[in-house]
Amino acid sequence: MSLNFEFTPEQKMLEDSIWRWASTWLEPQMEKLYEEDQMPAELFRELGKLGVNGIAYEEKYGGAGLGYVETLLVYETIGRVSNALGMTVGASQTLCFDNFRRNASEVQKSEILPKACSGQYIGCLGITEPNAGSDAMGMTTKAVKRGDHYIINGSKTFITNAPVGDFMLFYAKTDPERGPHGISAFFILIKDVKGFSCEKIKKWGMRTSPTGLVTFEDMEVPEENLIGGLNRGVAILTSGLCTERITLSGCSLGSQRACLELSLKYAKERVQFGKPIASFQMIQEKLANMYTRYASSKWMAYSAASYCDSLDHKTGGKGTDLDRMAAASLLHCGEMGTQSALDAVQIHGGYGYCQEYAISRHYLDQKLWDIGAGTSEIRRTIIARELLRDEFRSGR
Ligand SMILES: Cc1cc2nc3c(=O)[nH]c(=O)nc-3n(C[C@H](O)[C@H](O)[C@H](O)COP(=O)(O)OP(=O)(O)OC[C@H]3O[C@@H](n4cnc5c(N)ncnc54)[C@H](O)[C@@H]3O)c2cc1C
Repeated sequence: MSLNFEFTPEQKMLEDSIWRWASTWLEPQMEKLYEEDQMPAELFRELGKLGVNGIAYEEKYGGAGLGYVETLLVYETIGRVSNALGMTVGASQTLCFDNFRRNASEVQKSEILPKACSGQYIGCLGITEPNAGSDAMGMTTKAVKRGDHYIINGSKTFITNAPVGDFMLFYAKTDPERGPHGISAFFILIKDVKGFSCEKIKKWGMRTSPTGLVTFEDMEVPEENLIGGLNRGVAILTSGLCTERITLSGCSLGSQRACLELSLKYAKERVQFGKPIASFQMIQEKLANMYTRYASSKWMAYSAASYCDSLDHKTGGKGTDLDRMAAASLLHCGEMGTQSALDAVQIHGGYGYCQEYAISRHYLDQKLWDIGAGTSEIRRTIIARELLRDEFRSGR
């Protein structure tokens, strides 16, 4: 067993190039964009130039042919500047297009994925509905077969990137009588369908990451846009949630790292009572706690990503060790991140409460990770379910 927590030289180069881009291109725009709640228009094209839109996709589609460790590393590095944009990138590249890559036909992948990698297409994933959040299987969006088309009616809410999206992967009931076993996965190119509408949702955090309420009204979708097989949506959905929880842990992780780094710098510079505030033990306690939370979060997220990369199909889902590890990773990163963002604001005093300081954005964004991709309560439910499985042996 190797417990060496070092990245390879290639991974370090990847981190350095993303950090250079995020700290020089993204950071200077963030205060204004956050106030206006605008995603940088060129975000995905920029990432396309850097070659990181399809980190885990095969090179034949324009991807980098790497794994989920590298995906996590990229989202962590973007998250050091913007938790929200880390999420937006993850929603497109992992939740939407990576899930599509793992389930669509060769022809469909060759058509769509190169455009995702170049940044021409932005993707979004639709699971949540106004009345079906944690109880995702209770979704009521219906797809009814008519000739060689499906007619879709229903709505999806809180959909990251929907207001700016070109492509959507979503789930609908194709056999409502069968409950979770009557769910199928579909995709659409938004400009090609009629009966799709989207309303932007105003949020107090995660600003710059566009969120929408989507309505499908008699939306006609060709039958070949059904992916993974009729009524096979649950396996796609739950395995997708595994890689989603692991890689999106990176957004919280990057933000935790930024909170620690910015707080260390500020605590050394800010003088009160004739001394840097870093000399006060109550400030040191917060810094020590922030470091410990970051170090433990990093271990949980990267060990889950590395385990995922070691699996034959790099996939999990209900009844797998990866399901437990993925839920635990995001649970820990989210809760530790929320605490550290609070501590970081406190260390910055009144300045931490001002928009000019990046800490205020980390604070507002971080709370989402107790909620999005399944709430903390649902993640605990999943962890307990997998622990109580007969085959569970402690150790991983
Ligand atoms: C900014 C943002 C971006 C998002 N992006 C996407 C996206 O791209 N695609 C997508 O499909 N969804 C997205 N979501 C939706 C997100 O996944 C849901 O908000 C989340 O799953 C919770 O659902 P809910 O909000 O309906 O809360 P509810 O399910 O109504 O839960 C309310 C409260 O009850 C608790 N609760 C519910 N059931 C149980 C239980 N069995 N035991 C204990 N407690 C329980 C919850 O933990 C929570 O505290 C996003 C949400 C936000 C806020």
